[in-house]
Amino acid sequence: MKRYLCFMIMIFVLILAGCSHEHQWADATCVEPKTCIECGETEGEALGHQWVEATCTEAKHCSRCGETEGVPLEHDWEEATCTEAKHCRICGYADGDPLGHDWADATHEAPKTCKRCGETEGTVLLYDVPAGFTKEYEFGEFSKFNSNASENGLGGTMIWLNGSYENVSTLDISADLGRKMNAFISVLTDQEGNQWLVQIDLDYYTSIEKYSNLCGHSLCILCEYQGFSGVYEMPAVIVEKIYDMNTGNIIEPEWYASM
Ligand SMILES: [Zn+2]
Ligand SMILES: [Zn+2]
Ligand SMILES: [Zn+2]
Ligand SMILES: [Zn+2]
Repeated sequence: MKRYLCFMIMIFVLILAGCSHEHQWADATCVEPKTCIECGETEGEALGHQWVEATCTEAKHCSRCGETEGVPLEHDWEEATCTEAKHCRICGYADGDPLGHDWADATHEAPKTCKRCGETEGTVLLYDVPAGFTKEYEFGEFSKFNSNASENGLGGTMIWLNGSYENVSTLDISADLGRKMNAFISVLTDQEGNQWLVQIDLDYYTSIEKYSNLCGHSLCILCEYQGFSGVYEMPAVIVEKIYDMNTGNIIEPEWYASM
């Protein structure tokens, strides 16, 4: 009987000890709830994976435990161009370098042009002014002509200018001449950025198109200095001949052709 009692007490102590042990909790993980490492008791739920979607270089994976699912996506390649390297349309990863332009030299008809993408640089190859073209003329040094001609006596001086103009307009001078006449005028900007009032033609019947076609071209203009225009506040000239360095053409006004 004494032995039995002892046994019962031992069992009782064991049960007591079993019930009152301090759980040694291991934190919950993606797949296991919070668990006592001694008795296996659990509390709560597993956390579940924190999935990060697959990218070109990484498979879908859990940001907490690193578990993966499937394989990385493949790069979706966009082939290299002149200015962009071969690169992935999804992640932008670049492989290698841009191809660089494949330039064809400028010609008289086309500027320097990439044979691959058509990009252009600069202008068409200009023609040189023919030798002797300016021989009878003096260079139109702006500072010399940018004053009143009647004072400096330069009116009628034959000069040449290099530059370009952006548009041509007509000036009705019928009232002055007593018959139907237009003057074509334009503002030429020379290589130093100075502006000259250029009177191109006096013929009402000449197409303005001929001179409009020269807009934006590099021109060498032979002309006669008319004096300083107080109205336009720039030196005025009348065109004798235009050499178009873009086309190599020489344009001559048809002076009073229909008179
Ligand atoms: Zn426990
Ligand atoms: Zn996980
Ligand atoms: Zn990619
Ligand atoms: Zn190119």
